[in-house]
Amino acid sequence: MAETIFSKIIDRKIPARIEYEDDRCLAFHDVAPQAPTHVLVIPKQPIPSLADLEPADEALVGHLVLVATQLAAKLGLGDGYRLVVNCGRDGGQSVDHLHVHLLGGRQLRWPPG
Ligand code: 5GP
Repeated sequence: MAETIFSKIIDRKIPARIEYEDDRCLAFHDVAPQAPTHVLVIPKQPIPSLADLEPADEALVGHLVLVATQLAAKLGLGDGYRLVVNCGRDGGQSVDHLHVHLLGGRQLRWPPG
């Protein structure tokens, strides 16, 4: 897979405000936050998008979601939050490295645009 801005963050080639890291994922604050809390949870494995997931990735995807929920608790989002994964052009994905958005800290609207 081609190097993306997120693989550069994993490799510490560009800076980010890192909130959490383990052997399988990295979580850091979005550079253009859409809510008071906006964190991205990404796998270290360079999977481009949801459309590229394989059965073997099932545990990894669960891990990303679980880490996001743990960060929501740690960051004080007790009143609620939203996890979003954009996929492909129509889904609004702009970085081709799978990522879970954790958004919270304000009343989020529905439906999204
Ligand atoms: P997408 O549109 O692909 O679902 O989300 C990509 C997200 O990555 C956007 O919310 C965007 O603000 C964020 N982003 C893009 N470049 C950078 C960067 O260099 N650093 C950080 N921390 N976030 C970035």
